[in-house]
Amino acid sequence: MDGKALAARVRAEVAEEARPLGPIGLATVLVGGDPASAIYVRRKHEACREVGIEPFDHHLPEETSEADLLALVARLNADPAVTGILVQLPLPAHIDEGRVLRAVAPIKDVDGFHPSSAGQLYLGEPTFVPATPLGVLELLRAYDVELAGAHTVVIGRSAIVGKPAAHLLLQANATVTICHSRTRDLGAVTRQADILVAAVGRAGIVTAAMVKPGATVIDVGINRTAAGLVGDVDPGVVEVAGLLTPVPGGVGPMTIALLLRNTLRARRYQAGLLPFP
Ligand code: NAP
Repeated sequence: MDGKALAARVRAEVAEEARPLGPIGLATVLVGGDPASAIYVRRKHEACREVGIEPFDHHLPEETSEADLLALVARLNADPAVTGILVQLPLPAHIDEGRVLRAVAPIKDVDGFHPSSAGQLYLGEPTFVPATPLGVLELLRAYDVELAGAHTVVIGRSAIVGKPAAHLLLQANATVTICHSRTRDLGAVTRQADILVAAVGRAGIVTAAMVKPGATVIDVGINRTAAGLVGDVDPGVVEVAGLLTPVPGGVGPMTIALLLRNTLRARRYQAGLLPFP
């Protein structure tokens, strides 16, 4: 499954839809010098510029206090030029991540990490949904993967990927099983999956023996190894799966594209073009 090509299509759509909506700005907040985070933020800025969204870069030093970070978020909440606010995770250990995410105005919560967005998703109401699971659903739809009634197994239960992915799949009428580190006999569960979503962060945890022949396998994992960037899915799975997302070039580019679409959603809420829940 070609996430790179599909993401380019989504970005083109966003660019087209952004034009009549007037100025749109995405503020990114990065605290500290984590090199992977810096790369992600840079890619998000590039993608913004490509579609006509203005990126506002806030890069703060590692030792920034929680109070100073909360003050910045409050300023961004009040700034009419800022349509969406993205706080790049992880934050340094001395800052309470939950407190910062809760401080983002829900109407600017383009990452979908605010409890009010998560609650709306749980209720099945339209809202901001984290971009990675949105990208997973977009890939499944683009490849006409039948979701209704499909047994879908999601490995991982984080609030960023696993849980929201499971909720979106449930809304699409899939039968959903969520696995995690305490799941007994993971392979016995995953072998039942018509659709398998791996969001663990362990290279090669999903082997060919764990996949039902012909299943659709979505690899969300990003693992930096001596061999380079790899997913959670062992390369041997390509022999068994019906459809498979590569790493890189699968879910990663979709995440950025769907973040842009979420920023359009924020603009529509703020312009009164969509009712804000
Ligand atoms: P996370 O918060 O660390 O969650 C990992 C999940 O995997 C947890 O629920 C954990 O279970 C489960 N797990 C760990 N070991 C397991 C095992 N042996 N068997 C079954 N489940 C196990 O990570 P995350 O933020 O969800 O991210 C997951 C992966 O996706 C990472 O590699 C991350 O880099 C990648 N990611 C990619 C994108 C993208 O754009 N492509 C975006 C976000 C994240 P417990 O809950 O029991 O601990």
